[in-house]
This record gives sequence, C-alpha cells and structure tokens, in this order.
Amino acid sequence: MRVAALTVGTVAIAALGQVALFRGHGWVLSRDLVAFCLLTPLAAATERFVIHVRVRRGAHAVSLSEIPLVIGLLVTSPLVLLVARVVGAATVLLFSRRQRGTKLALNVALLGIQATAGSAVFGMLADGSEAPGPRQWLAAYAAMIAADVVMSIIVTAAIALHDDPAEWRRLPAMAVHGVPLAVVTTSIALTGVLVIRNDPRAIVLLAVVSFVTFLGYRGYVRQTQGHAQVEGLYAFTQAMDGSLGGDDVTRTLLSQVRDQLRAEVATLLTPSADQRGWRGTSLSGTGTIEMFSVDGDAGTAWWAGAAAGQPVLVRALRSASDADPGQRAQPVDGIAVPVITGEDGTGDGGTGVLLVRDSLPEIATFGADQVRLFQALANHAGLSLAQAGLLDRLRTEVAEKQHIALHDQLTDLPNRRNFQQLLEDRLATPSNGVTAVMLLDLDRFKEVNDALGHNTGDALLREVADRLRRHLGDRGVIARLGGDEFAVLISEVGSTAEALAVGNELVRAVEHPISFGHLNLTTRASLGIACGPEHGTSAQTLIQRADVAMYAAKQTRSGARVYTPTDDKNSARRLALVADLTEAIERHELTVEFQPKMDPKSGLIVGAEALARWHHREQGFIPPDVFIPLAEHSGLIRPLTVHVLEVALRRCAAWRRAGHLLNIAVNLSPNGLADTTLPDVVTRLLGQTGVPAPALILEITESTIMADPGGSMAILDRLHALGVKLAIDDFGTGYSSLGRLRELPIHEVKIDKSFVQRVAVDHRDRAVVRSAIQLGHALDLEVVAEGVEDAITLKHLQREGCDLVQGYFIARPMAADVFEAWLAGRTSRDANVLYPQFGG
Ligand code: C2E
Ligand code: CA
Ligand code: CA
Repeated sequence: MRVAALTVGTVAIAALGQVALFRGHGWVLSRDLVAFCLLTPLAAATERFVIHVRVRRGAHAVSLSEIPLVIGLLVTSPLVLLVARVVGAATVLLFSRRQRGTKLALNVALLGIQATAGSAVFGMLADGSEAPGPRQWLAAYAAMIAADVVMSIIVTAAIALHDDPAEWRRLPAMAVHGVPLAVVTTSIALTGVLVIRNDPRAIVLLAVVSFVTFLGYRGYVRQTQGHAQVEGLYAFTQAMDGSLGGDDVTRTLLSQVRDQLRAEVATLLTPSADQRGWRGTSLSGTGTIEMFSVDGDAGTAWWAGAAAGQPVLVRALRSASDADPGQRAQPVDGIAVPVITGEDGTGDGGTGVLLVRDSLPEIATFGADQVRLFQALANHAGLSLAQAGLLDRLRTEVAEKQHIALHDQLTDLPNRRNFQQLLEDRLATPSNGVTAVMLLDLDRFKEVNDALGHNTGDALLREVADRLRRHLGDRGVIARLGGDEFAVLISEVGSTAEALAVGNELVRAVEHPISFGHLNLTTRASLGIACGPEHGTSAQTLIQRADVAMYAAKQTRSGARVYTPTDDKNSARRLALVADLTEAIERHELTVEFQPKMDPKSGLIVGAEALARWHHREQGFIPPDVFIPLAEHSGLIRPLTVHVLEVALRRCAAWRRAGHLLNIAVNLSPNGLADTTLPDVVTRLLGQTGVPAPALILEITESTIMADPGGSMAILDRLHALGVKLAIDDFGTGYSSLGRLRELPIHEVKIDKSFVQRVAVDHRDRAVVRSAIQLGHALDLEVVAEGVEDAITLKHLQREGCDLVQGYFIARPMAADVFEAWLAGRTSRDANVLYPQFGG
C-alpha cells in the first residue's frame, strides 16, 4: 500500500518535471519522431542486460540502458526521451520479465523519474548549443549521477516502507556503488554519440564496447557476490547460534532467511502433533510473526514437493494472489525446501518445510543459486531447531527422571549426588552441633560376587541397605555411593565419641550373619568417620577424610574408625593410582596406539591418531577415560603429553622414512593448553624427529577454548605460527558454534562419534553431520568423522563429501608394529578391492 503511494508520488514528480521541462523545448516533429523510433528499440534491447549488485537487503540494478538515456539527453527533448525509455524498457519488463502489479508500476515510475531527473540536471548545466562540447559532457555526467542518486533514494524508500526501516543506513553504500558505473556508461554513450555523428556505421563498434564492458562487470559482480553469499552464511550461523531456544530460534531463522534471500515472506511449516496437518509460522512485512495451521496433507500446495523431500522453485510467472494465510496458492515466486526439525511434538522430529515467497521488488525472480543457498541455510537451521527441541525435551525428561537421578536403583537409597547435596545443605545451615559423615565399605565383597554370582551379590547389598536403614532409624540419612560403598549422614550428634559408638553399632549390624536359603554368609565391614567442623567444613573434605579413615580401618581391621591426620599417608586408592601413573610415565611404560584416518573417496590412509594406553601391572588395562582425568588433576598431564608426543612423532618419522607420508594427530588436554612451554617442547621434538610441522595435528576440544579463551588462544596462536595444524575434537558436543570457530587458527574439525554412529538410523544426527560438513567446508576446514563403525555410515559420509573418516570399520587403534603391518598389507592391495562398494 505504502509502496503504491510511493509509486504514485514518483510518477507525479516526474510528470511535474516534464511539464516544466516541456516549456523550454516544444516540438520539432520530424527530428523527435526519428529519435523516438531509434531510442525505443535501443532502450528495449539494452534493458535485457541487467546486472544486480547486492547491497544487503537491497539490490542495485545496473544496465546498459543508461546508454540510450545519455544519447537521448544530447539529441532529443525530455518528453521524447521519457516516452522512448518507458515504452522500450516497460515492454521488456512486461513481456520478457513478466513483471506485474506494484512491482511493474514501481519500476516504470523509476524509469520515468530517472529520465526526468537526468533531463532536468542536463537542461540546467548544458548551454543549449547544438554541437556537444566539454560543457555538454560534464552536464551529461552530472545528469546521470543525479539520476542514479534519485533512483537509489526511491529504491531505498520502497524497501524501507516495505519492510525494513534500517535500509536507509545502506543508502550511502548503494549510491557510492552507482557513481563509477554512471561515469563509465556515460563515457561510452558520449563517445558513441561523437563517433556516430562522424560515421553512423560506428554504432556497431559502440555495441561491441558496451557489451564487453557489460560482460567484464558482470563477471566481477558474480565473483564478489559469491563471496557475499559465504559471508551471509556466516552471519546466519552466528545469529542462529546466538538465539536462545524454541520461539527465539524460529524468529531468528525466519528473519535471517528473509534477509538472505530477499523475500517478502518467510514461513516455517512443521507437521502438527497429530500428523494430520501442518503448523505454520510466517514472518512478513514489518516483522510481525503470524501463526496458522493447515489442515490435511500438503496435497496441492505449491510446496508439497518440499514436504516430500525435494526443493521446489517457482519463478515469477503469475500475479500475486490475495491474502493467503494457508500458503497453498501459487506465490508470485518462491522457493520451498525440506528442513529436518525436532519439533513435531513426539520428539522424533520430522520433515518440515521452510519457504520464502515473493522476491523483493528489486530482484527479478528467485533462481537456482538461491535454491542452493536456501538449502544450505535450511540444513543448518534444522540443526538449531533440533537442538532447541532437544533442550525442551531434556527439561521434561529431567523432571521425570529426578527420582531416578537421585536414587540408587538396587536399594532405592539416595545416591552419591543426592548424598553430597544433602550434606552441603546441612553444612550451609548454621549450627553449633557436630555433623558426622561415615563411609562404610564391605570387605572382600568382590569375592562374594565372583564366587556366588551377581544375584547373590545384589541380594547381599539389599540386605545390608535394609539393616543400615533399620538401625539408623531417624537419627540420620543413609545412602549408597556405588558398588559396596555406603554413606551415612548424622546431622546432630553430641560428640565425636558418640559418632564412633553409632559407627560401631552399624558395623555390628552388618556383620551379623546373613542367610540365603541354606547358606549363611558373614560379611565384614569397615567404616570411617569424619566430623564437622573438627575435620572439615566442606562436604568434599568431610567425605574425603571419612574415606581416608575407612581405608585405615580396613587396613587395621578395626571396624569403625574416626579420622586422624596420620591416616592420610596410608590410604586413598586414588593416591596409589596416581603414584603408579607417575612411575609408569617416568619409566615410559605408557604405550601409544595408532588409529588410521582414511580418505573415503580414494580409500587412502592419510594419517593416524595417537592414543595413550596404560597396562597397569596388577590391575591390567586402565582406560584413558580413567587415567587421563587422573593425570589432569595431579599435574601429570604435562609429562604424559610430552611422552605421547615424543613416541608418536618418532613413529611418524619412521613411517615417513619408509615412504608412508602420513600425518600424526596427538590429543591435548584442556590443561595442556595452559602450559606455556608446550610450543617450545613441540619445536624441540619436531627438530629431533625431523617430522615437518604441518604433519603434526594437535587435537583440542571446544570446551578447552571456551573455558579459557584468552590464555589458550595465545598458545594456539604460537602453535599455529610454528606451522602445526590444529583440530577441534569431539565437535558437536560442546554447544559451541562453527561461527565462533572461524576466529580460531584451526584447520580441521572432528565430528563427535556420538553423531556419526547414529547417522544411519537417526535423521537428527544425520542433519548434524551434514550441517557440520557443509559449514566446515564453508570455513575452509577439513572435516573428519570419527566413530565410523559400519559400511552404511561410511557410504553416507562419502556421499556427504566428508574429507576423512576414522573408526572401527576402518581399523581399531593398534600398537605401532601392528599398525605398520596393517598399513603394509593394505597398500599392497588396491583400496578398491578392500572397499569395492565405495570404489570411485
Ligand atoms: P578421542 O580423542 O575422542 O579419541 C577417540 C576415541 O574413540 C578413542 O578412544 C578411540 O579408541 C575411540 N574410537 C575410535 N573409533 C571408534 C569407533 O568406531 N567406535 C567407537 N565406539 N569408538 C571409537 P580411547 O582410546 O578410549 O580414548 C578416549 C579418550 O581419551 C580420547 O578420546 C581422548 O580424549 C583421551 N585420550 C586418549 N589418549 C590421549 C592422550 O594421549 N592425551 C590426552 N590428553 N587425551 C587422550
Ligand atoms: Ca582425539
Ligand atoms: Ca573425539
């Protein structure tokens, strides 16, 4: 409506201008008729060649049609020029571009005001003489620039009125873009007029020059705008990652989509909860959100194809229909793409449809490029929507599972977390009394379990729980911390001695023989006690000291025992394990296994990840998930990392000498990045082994960087400066954004195995993986999928264009010599023989 008013206003001003100009001219019938007959087809011909220069939401149309305009200024009257220009160009808009309605009206009005403004400025500056000289030239330049600026203002006004008042801010950029072009086209036109006066046949030369200029400029614009699309993708990613959840995600999504595709309306359709229709959310005009529902299936709606999984493109063909809240009718033009969402109420997600319709007045119509961009946006959007849906679902599940989360399933006693919380609450309320924390552990429970089976073991634990509960009564709370370990909290106890008496009572209760059928079992128990405030004021200290006392009790077989500081020396399994680990690292007993990374297209092995292994002398294999955190908490991570680095680089150097130009990836712990000597160590080891820096990849997790952006960034920059490559490990688990990763000096992302493993069965994980691959590529990163366990997954990743794969399906982590033998056996065969189904 307001755009219509703007159009009428523009026409009115152009008309008034023409009346004023007409006074000064009058008719010279024969000359004007000739000019009209020549200029009209020229205007039509040149209007066919238009380049659109995008400036954010606006587009600036540049066309050769300014050439007839300049010629007209020099050779004919303003009115003839106006009519020739409007008739010629409007013909093209109407029949070739099939513009209709307000879009056509606005464009015709723009043509009119351009011609009129040009004529007015030219009339003021030129001296009116017939033979064009420098003064006319300058006047022509000024006229074309002025005409251009007037156009820009009106186009901006149209967009601002239409939907986005912020458009005014972009006016200067748009006007500046126009000036050099106006100068170029004017120069061509002026030269043309001079040449044609001399020899009319030279019009051919003019056409050649014009056309070449046009092609060159179009090439330039295409290139810079391809860039703009990637930039747009970043902006989109960042905006989506910044939104909070649910509705906020939807709103951000729609507004971003509308901006990126320059559409009037953006709509998200998701299957309704009963699966019998669709729920729609639209954003249009001034930013108002509209919700609606569509009954029945997509059926004849123009976007039905997208609901079935295929993008739909409607080019500008028909005139706009009236208000159409159901979004079924054909739009002026539009694109619909499928989007995977987690929002169909069942939580399983489903295929939704994301659509835009009615391109803004300044672009001709949607095309294949926009479909591609839109599909990429939709894929990423699906990820964000799924995460938002997932968050909501998690909240309800947490509520349901609160009891489970806080209780032990076997005995229904409070669990460790619950116990800790109760103790913290107790310590937070001021009191003068003594708080007693007791830990009770059954001696040699493992033997009972092994000898008599798990069922007996479970029955035994339940019986112990019952007895503790019965004996303690309402004097305190009892919890099961895990395994055969129980805890007791007594909030108010008279003294430490009284606590010890209760402890002994509990031990005796447990040690009373238990009968299973004809079997009589006697278990022994050890119990440690720590009392606040004497032995500590925090929950952690009290539990830890009760643990220490319990170990001392076990060693001295003393039943119940109150903590004393000397106990510290003797116990704590953890401390023992830390000591063993220290020794293992010093003696280089930690080993390193290697897991290959494969290029899924060629089947070639390009590198390996080094993974630390610890075979404890007594306890056997201890998984890295256990000893790595232990090393982190006890200051051992630095020597551990250095050891792994050294072994890995040595091996890598040997492979390279043998002709396998593999790279090697080593994991860095979060704390490892706080180590400022790391870059020096890396430099030294690279020098000693002769492995080139780019063949070393250091894997860090997202959380590492998020936790300590400043400090770790400095180390990352130094490592990057060495030429070492950096990878983000476990990508997707940290809620961080690829947008943010753009600021880091990284080279590779490793999609976490939790997504990769379910790619074949879960469409949400499929969306995560696809989105990570696409955006990783947009950021020029190598994308690695880890945890590839079967052929289907590998095939899928290959189709999605994943750069590298790693997982049990290719090979498990292997000791160095096994790895080398594997590699040799493999390279002697054809990769396509090993993976015939993926041969490429
Ligand atoms: P990560 O860096 O994510 O390492 C990949 C883990 O996935 C390895 O477990 C590997 O054995 C396992 N994996 C590989 N392919 C598959 C597959 O197809 N399916 C499944 N289910 N798993 C697969 P691992 O060796 O137990 O290592 C666990 C974690 O311990 C590593 O996770 C890493 O965070 C840490 N870690 C291992 N070695 C080191 C080290 O030298 N330094 C540091 N700082 N951390 C290490
Ligand atoms: Ca890793
Ligand atoms: Ca990983």
